Amino acid sequence: MNEGMNMYKLACDLFPIYRSITGDGVRETFDVIDNYIGPKWSLNRYEVPTGKKVFDWIIPREWRINEAYIEDKNGNRIIDFKVNSLHVMGYSTPIDKWVTKEELKKYIFTQPDQPDVIPYVTSYYKGRTGFCMSENQMNSLQAREYHIKIDSELFEGSLSYADLVIPGESDKEIIFSTYSCHPSMANDNCSGLVLSAQLIKYITSFPKRLYTYRFIFAPETIGAITYLSENDRYKYLYKHFKAGFTFSCVGDNKEYSIIHSKNCSSLSDRVLQNVLRKKPIIVKEYSFLERGSDERQYNSPVIGMSFVGFCRSKYWTFPEYHTSLDDLTFISQEGLQGSFDVFKEVVNALENNFIYKTIIPCEPQLGKRGLYPTLSQKGKAKKVRSIIDFIAYADGKKDLIEISDNINKPIDELIPIAQKLLEEHIITVEEEK
Ligand code: ZN
Repeated sequence: MNEGMNMYKLACDLFPIYRSITGDGVRETFDVIDNYIGPKWSLNRYEVPTGKKVFDWIIPREWRINEAYIEDKNGNRIIDFKVNSLHVMGYSTPIDKWVTKEELKKYIFTQPDQPDVIPYVTSYYKGRTGFCMSENQMNSLQAREYHIKIDSELFEGSLSYADLVIPGESDKEIIFSTYSCHPSMANDNCSGLVLSAQLIKYITSFPKRLYTYRFIFAPETIGAITYLSENDRYKYLYKHFKAGFTFSCVGDNKEYSIIHSKNCSSLSDRVLQNVLRKKPIIVKEYSFLERGSDERQYNSPVIGMSFVGFCRSKYWTFPEYHTSLDDLTFISQEGLQGSFDVFKEVVNALENNFIYKTIIPCEPQLGKRGLYPTLSQKGKAKKVRSIIDFIAYADGKKDLIEISDNINKPIDELIPIAQKLLEEHIITVEEEK
């Protein structure tokens, strides 16, 4: 499959767009995603004005940056926002003055434990002015005086977010949420935007769907809070919630990570865990105590939805995290494809996760139904072991995920078996409790 290639191309398109928690970069990001999804479906866009209360928070002023640089008296640019957008602290207030080298250092953020990288730094809720550069670059500054300039504006504007709801037969919802506020870093979080876009393409291609699927694109924290707060949306979502996932850092090629919800036995936890445990690469399981992205909001007590976090390498754990090293060489087609394959399986598992019940006493005779070799010889029965095990565990209490966990066979292998056994009237589907 070549989804990974297209996904990587989309990441390349999204990477240079300058995003923050507000601003035109977010709007342009939604345009690019819309274009990728194709003409039949498009994101619903929302703008929430500065000053509006969203639960315990207030929508901040919108931020716009035009240019930013540091130059010496000969006009040599030491750093320039145009060269790398991480050079400016997100939400910096404007400045335009000459400073001494010592004064300049008060405005500079570096990552001393990684002296070659430019760190990603923001100050959304307290007015600050700052530049970011590598520790080595700062230490190599020679001139006595520098011209520092940030041409930025903070104004009464709005915060942008988007969603897309793909209806199914049931109004119960599977929800995917990812954040649209990070500037040019590839894994965090061009990759999350790309995975959501690809899943939209995949799910809208089904001839029919059991569940309704909701995709949320919003700035991290303030955006998720806004999404839940607007029009009391959280009440509707809580009532219709089936499973939910947040995507962050899903494009690298290393391990898979799951950040569990508080309720480790929720459907979201069980299905993702089931799919990941069958993968031949390292899977790291983190408890809810190690949460860090928007799973924080969705799982909070009043909201009460068991969302699970999904990453390849988990945010905070990889050295490229929140630095200039998180560029397009850090993610890959294979990494993105791997994440997409996981969620293809998750969606297929959820669409087929019924409680099955064997209705024939003792083992049914599979041979007369063409499901068992009629010639009995050792070794032959191996092929049908999954069928026999499925029948043995389909007791009217376990859903497909639990059967798969119990008999240690991937759900993708069990779905056609369940369909065949239904056709043969060996099992039935139990009504959901
Ligand atoms: Zn981040």
